[in-house]
Amino acid sequence: MAPAPKAAPKKEDPAAAAPAAEAAAPAKKAEKGKREKKHKEEKGVKAMYKVEGAKFSRTRPTCERCGPGYFMADHHDRYTCGHCGFTRYKQK
Ligand SMILES: [Zn+2]
Repeated sequence: MAPAPKAAPKKEDPAAAAPAAEAAAPAKKAEKGKREKKHKEEKGVKAMYKVEGAKFSRTRPTCERCGPGYFMADHHDRYTCGHCGFTRYKQK
């Protein structure tokens, strides 16, 4: 009396189960998050000075209250000091 051989359990093939598209190319992903950055103006100390040879000039006025060293923000119609809040309107 030979014991009946147990049928081997069916192996699930992971390759067959996975959708074909996913296995084909999972590399495209980084291109979506691109955002165009508008480079409006230079930032930092470099933006405050204009160097011409040996001379340099300030591109923005300094604050009258805080004194030299405190540059004022350049808005379209006014300058504002971020330190003390002083605002000076541009004259035409
Ligand atoms: Zn100020």
